[in-house]
Amino acid sequence: MWIAEVDTLDSEPIFSGVGLSFRSCAPYGRGLAFLFFVTTLGAPGAAARYRFLHGTTDNRVATSVLRSLLSTSLGRTLPKVRYRVMLLERAEANAYSTGDGTIAITTGLLPVFQGDRGVWAAVIGHELGHVLLAHPECVRQFRSVLAEAYVKASAGGTEQAPKNLVQSSVGQGVFRLKGSHGIEYQADFIGMMLMAEAGYQPEYTLILEQRLLYGLGSQPEFLAMLTHHPRMELREDRTRKSMDAASAIFRAYWPDVAQSPGGNLPPYGEIGAWTVRETDGGNALVFEVPVQFHRAAGMQVRVAAFFLYHERRVRAATAQNRAIDGSLVVNAFFKGAVNGSDAVTLETPARALATRHRALQAVVALMAGSRMIAVASRRIKLRGGVAR
Ligand SMILES: [Zn+2]
Repeated sequence: MWIAEVDTLDSEPIFSGVGLSFRSCAPYGRGLAFLFFVTTLGAPGAAARYRFLHGTTDNRVATSVLRSLLSTSLGRTLPKVRYRVMLLERAEANAYSTGDGTIAITTGLLPVFQGDRGVWAAVIGHELGHVLLAHPECVRQFRSVLAEAYVKASAGGTEQAPKNLVQSSVGQGVFRLKGSHGIEYQADFIGMMLMAEAGYQPEYTLILEQRLLYGLGSQPEFLAMLTHHPRMELREDRTRKSMDAASAIFRAYWPDVAQSPGGNLPPYGEIGAWTVRETDGGNALVFEVPVQFHRAAGMQVRVAAFFLYHERRVRAATAQNRAIDGSLVVNAFFKGAVNGSDAVTLETPARALATRHRALQAVVALMAGSRMIAVASRRIKLRGGVAR
């Protein structure tokens, strides 16, 4: 049995040469490991060097999550190359991989993890998907082991399910997708199946997507990750099917969720199509904020609205809705649930805004317990009598 080789050394590589790609399921020498990498990163010059984080908790978590994904029966079908995760010091949020098994995660992406190993697994699993796709000769083996895993999972271990039927339904459509979007979708699919076997619920893929979308960590660079990796759309039937298959495998392997490496899901959710408008002849501002939240049972859910002027919070002119730091914040609180949704109306008198500026940024945030789970903002131009 082949055991995945996971690099735990924190050596800093020196880049040189031009990009090469490989088409072999067999292991090859480490000397060539970074050639492809340079091209992927778009190095400014051949002598460019990158700084990597070494020996941090994040390094350890990344390596241990990588190891767990590779140690599954699906993980063992991946190309036999030298796998490692490097934490690259860069402000933008992104992740890269090369056909040779090197995965780079930028430090700009670190805020998205929030201590959730499942989110690490979603990023690393996706990048492992790219490694597999760079070795088309290994994909067949992956798919056949996946079909077996799915048959076992669906049949409760009895292997009585109609194998051909199941085989034809798991991922078949996904692997027919073309173009760069298709590749990203396939990488997500492969990652999700690796995650399921290794003990990370497929919902972590959605949680990653939402955290990127909402730019949690307040870095606009998070959009870079989304742009480079167009993610699965939950609305797509294909995504639903893929997630259902991954969930079935997860449940078969990890009947006790609390004991799984990914553990219970953290709260997550979405802010829907929200509006903010002036009412009462410009004397009041009303937010309508539809929200959805999950895994928030026993928590207090909070929807908050506030305003920014040049990235600074607008202060409260009245005692009502004044936060401890003096800024204006309008809150709605309600009881969390495993799955819940609500349409929240938040209202503030216009005179509560201690600003004479009318071009502001309106922000809404969704929190569960102490976690910020979604945030959205838009520019507004006030017309009414808010000048002070
Ligand atoms: Zn990707």
